[in-house]
Amino acid sequence: MKKILITGAAGFLGSHLCDRFIKEGYHVIGMDNLITGDLKNIEHLFKLKNFEFYHHDVSKFVNVPGELDYILHFASPASPIDYLKIPIQTLKVGALGTHNLLGLAKSKKARILIASTSEIYGDPLVHPQTEEYYGNVNTIGPRGVYDEAKRFMESITMAYNRFHGLETRIVRIFNTYGPRMRLNDGRVIPAFIGQALRGEDLTVFGDGSQTRSFCYVDDQVEGIYRLLLSDYDMPVNIGNPHEITIRDFAEEIVKLTGTDQKVIYKPLPKDDPMQRQPDITKAKEILGWEPKVSREEGMKVTYDYFKSLPEDELYKKEH
Ligand code: NAD
Ligand code: UDP
Repeated sequence: MKKILITGAAGFLGSHLCDRFIKEGYHVIGMDNLITGDLKNIEHLFKLKNFEFYHHDVSKFVNVPGELDYILHFASPASPIDYLKIPIQTLKVGALGTHNLLGLAKSKKARILIASTSEIYGDPLVHPQTEEYYGNVNTIGPRGVYDEAKRFMESITMAYNRFHGLETRIVRIFNTYGPRMRLNDGRVIPAFIGQALRGEDLTVFGDGSQTRSFCYVDDQVEGIYRLLLSDYDMPVNIGNPHEITIRDFAEEIVKLTGTDQKVIYKPLPKDDPMQRQPDITKAKEILGWEPKVSREEGMKVTYDYFKSLPEDELYKKEH
């Protein structure tokens, strides 16, 4: 049985990855310090013999007993609100955490895949974003703590690849959504759905002309799975190229939720990227991957999930 360590296992993507690798017959070791995650996301796995969980901060020395075949490093705050609240931890988990996990991968002779992000392109001047684009990041802006941590993460990963011959994979994840996102994590999809469910106005930042391209979690997990098992060690964009303005997206949410919420406008956060759309030519050619789930289908499942949560979740204060 192949053994895989998944960091950030109690988070949104990490928990879905745990499910997928359990389904594929792996022994899964989840690791998380629960800073933005929730054990509820993986509690259904605790009864399984081939699942273990370690409550641990990966910015500190990491070890697990026995052999390891693969590591997926997904631990990191991921919502702009989270990494603005915990900027130092965000930098540490991208830098020190990644260094620890690369060291572990080297000592176990394991292949490691790291979760990078479309944020490494910053506020992009090239559209759509190809993997060849170097990006446009403000190093000292409030979002810099996340973007630069992820850029460092890619650099140190390639250094381990070239200097130590480590088997590495880099996924550049574009906005992904689905069940198990935290209702109050501040990202636009849970924010809008939460507002609709509470009967509040939907808050569009700026004039809403900025774009995003939303990928459903099952598609994302499939892309990551294929990349891990591929022979390709350069970065690959995984995301859904179907782009929409945030203003139009707010209108879609009003229709989806059948509410008559108003859309109101708030200031645009500093360095908020104006447009974002993945070029997925590489993923198509190298992994034979492309997204299958339309925004309409994915959003319906996601809305049903948020609606099914206990009502007190809607009013829960963060951190
Ligand atoms: P999430 O906040 O739901 O999950 C992150 C998990 O990491 C949480 O469970 C948190 O407790 C854990 N964590 C954070 N710091 C840790 C530390 N020092 N030690 C151990 N655990 C720690 O976020 P997510 O959306 O699931 O994102 C997961 C990964 O994917 C992140 O690395 C993020 O940067 C990357 N990513 C996500 C998206 C997206 O759209 N969801 C886009 C780009 C990149
Ligand atoms: N956004 C918004 N209203 C909100 C939350 C977010 O208009 O209540 C906007 C945000 O400014 C950004 C886009 O939605 O332009 C996506 O934000 P998110 O935090 O989901 O992720 P990002 O892609 O910026 O990391």
